[in-house]
Amino acid sequence: MGIFDKLQPLAAARRALAEKGVKSINVTMEEVLSPTEAVINGRRTILVGTNNYLGLTFDAGCIQAACKALQEQGTGTTGSRMANGTFAGHVALERELADFFGCRGAIVFSTGYVANLGMLSALAQPGDVILLDADCHASIYDGCRLGGAEVIRFRHNDVSDLEKRLRRLGDRAANALILVEGIYSMLGDRAPLKEIAAVKRQYGACLLVDEAHSVGVLGNRGRGLAEEVGVEESVDFIVGTFSKSLGAIGGFAVSNHPELELIRYASRPYIFTASPSPSTIASTRTALQLLRTRSELRTRLWENARRLYQRLSELNFRLGPEVSPIVAVRLPNPEEAIFLWNGLLERGVYVNLVLPPATPDGGALLRCSVSAGHTPEQVDRICEAFTSLRETAQTAQTIGTVTSPPARGGSV
Ligand code: PMP
Repeated sequence: MGIFDKLQPLAAARRALAEKGVKSINVTMEEVLSPTEAVINGRRTILVGTNNYLGLTFDAGCIQAACKALQEQGTGTTGSRMANGTFAGHVALERELADFFGCRGAIVFSTGYVANLGMLSALAQPGDVILLDADCHASIYDGCRLGGAEVIRFRHNDVSDLEKRLRRLGDRAANALILVEGIYSMLGDRAPLKEIAAVKRQYGACLLVDEAHSVGVLGNRGRGLAEEVGVEESVDFIVGTFSKSLGAIGGFAVSNHPELELIRYASRPYIFTASPSPSTIASTRTALQLLRTRSELRTRLWENARRLYQRLSELNFRLGPEVSPIVAVRLPNPEEAIFLWNGLLERGVYVNLVLPPATPDGGALLRCSVSAGHTPEQVDRICEAFTSLRETAQTAQTIGTVTSPPARGGSV
């Protein structure tokens, strides 16, 4: 087999999508107008697929902090903290993250993806065992692979399946690492974290929660699902990202375990990549302050989430199981999803098109993510676009089949 042959199924899948009218999954935003609007294909378009939950990407304070850091510290760190040294802002952000989560320590990583790679590869190695919710993000799967531990998947959000698998481990259960997310990125459903924490305590295992989609979204102080359901004491590690509520790019882990500090020295994805740019760190520090002080953003986010979820369920779309800032429209096949996705784009609404194998159940998804930045009128316009497509979507089922690339595990 030639080096490029393995890419041919992808080429075929892309050709099939193009025939169905999907020119490119990577839609280009020709101009970004605000956290909720961009110009796409020359048309002013409402963005409903950004994960920009609090709409902070255009916050004046965040922009000002980033500009100041750019002017004072330059455009980049140009290297890893281990080799090239640490900027004071990175250390300050780690202190502020630890304080925000009420934890002893924090580590900043270059992205959320790298945070999972860095944490899991250092924590779980050959001889260790990981219990992983089947719907976990690709970065969690990849982190497990990098570490080389034995991976046991349990059924999504099924605590009795987790418990059964822990029981089967016998003595090894006390050293197992359980991996779950706060809000799951595909369907917007939450982990049953109270119950998972109870099982973790019962077996003496370790628990890591990826709160990428729940920091700034859940909890009285915006600390995520563990705060919301009152189990922060039982969570050993929280991993998160700066690329959603915090409106930038980067990742982090926080923990009360003093050993967290040692992970820096054991983690190749921390050691061998450049640290985030000073402007990124500066805007994230300001955004973290806003998470503390502007709880009305969270209120507005949830009002928008409830509004969109309710209106789409009234239209009889099959949605994720609970109201969430991720409102997933579940469709039986790629053709119907593509038809709706194209129709929405033509009506000035951009959502995420998710096709198998990235979907949890082999169906297709239109993933909407609402923002505190959406106005009620924008949410209404999104719903009107769905309404006008509702009837015609039914007829799209006859279009034919799209071939999908092979699965590697993990959600997007
Ligand atoms: N974890 C989860 C659950 C995610 O959904 C994502 C991104 N979608 C990541 C980690 C990776 O975050 P980042 O974009 O910062 O790399």
